[in-house]
Amino acid sequence: MGKRYDVAIIGTGPAGVSAAITATVRNKSVLLLGSASVSDKVSKAHMIQNYPGLPDIPGQELAQHFLDHLKKMEIPITDRKVTMIYAMGDYFSLQIDQEFVEASAVILAIGVSFGKPFPGEDENLGRGVSYCATCDAALYRGKEAVVVGYAPKEEADVRFLAEMAQKVTYIPVYKKEDAAAMAPELFPDRPNVEVKQVKPLGIEKRDGRMVLATDGGEISADGIFLLRESVSPGKLVPGLELDGNHVKVDRKMATNLPGLFAAGDITGTPYQYVKSAGEGNVAALSAVSWIDSLKK
Ligand SMILES: Cc1cc2nc3c(=O)[nH]c(=O)nc-3n(C[C@H](O)[C@H](O)[C@H](O)COP(=O)(O)OP(=O)(O)OC[C@H]3O[C@@H](n4cnc5c(N)ncnc54)[C@H](O)[C@@H]3O)c2cc1C
Repeated sequence: MGKRYDVAIIGTGPAGVSAAITATVRNKSVLLLGSASVSDKVSKAHMIQNYPGLPDIPGQELAQHFLDHLKKMEIPITDRKVTMIYAMGDYFSLQIDQEFVEASAVILAIGVSFGKPFPGEDENLGRGVSYCATCDAALYRGKEAVVVGYAPKEEADVRFLAEMAQKVTYIPVYKKEDAAAMAPELFPDRPNVEVKQVKPLGIEKRDGRMVLATDGGEISADGIFLLRESVSPGKLVPGLELDGNHVKVDRKMATNLPGLFAAGDITGTPYQYVKSAGEGNVAALSAVSWIDSLKK
């Protein structure tokens, strides 16, 4: 991933897929980041009735059409999570785990996350609260960490963290089975992982330790990792102007940061596939104009 891409597109829902297709048609080099099986919000929809040309299509099938289209156009999906995007003037630097990738333009198509931050989360971010196990695991060598995981794929990060940390308490907020039985089943080679089935309520720093309040009592550790599918856009891109939970855009899908565009649910309601795909197309064309203006 060493070169500078024309455009980095973050998200593999209809907005990101549509943006990637249009940018490729316009001969731009594209880095498409997101879930390799395309967005869960597509594949998990039971039946879709309002996608033009594809009446009554199950989400799984629409997702397969998206994947086939990308494959036909030779657009690979890079299944990695972007943790930070920095505006550097005439390009952007994207942090992906501990790697940095450059792109002249960026399209944010990360969908919308309905979860509100926990009380105490924002204040302690970077001071005991982290969103990226790969980036910050080394800080917890020989220490204790709590991980709140929102999807089974985060279990890999728990295993990685447990290689360094003395103890990891894992709170999967997606499983319903008996927590006590889960640790040996999920982490047979990591005896220092304890799985707890509790509901996180808030975060506090007390006497230099991080304290997670839950409905099953407090858990104290050196650090707390919150591993969600999506990070709120304001935290992902410092300086990005928001409108409530959404990214503020104009009709060209341009944000307040030159060269950074946004499309799909992240720009506001209605939350719909076609609206997202349409905005992805507009964002890609605007990004193409921006890239061409840089080259003049
Ligand atoms: C069950 C269900 C049924 C629905 N039915 C319909 C329907 O019938 N008709 C309709 O029009 N709409 C429907 N919707 C709404 C529709 O799903 C959304 O409007 C649409 O998926 C939004 O597309 P998007 O591209 O903006 O984002 P999303 O589809 O949410 O995709 C976001 C993408 O961003 C990626 N991502 C997020 N953060 C990062 C990061 N930091 N790094 C890398 N990648 C990241 C994710 O992996 C994902 O690929 C339904 C939604 C649900 C949940």
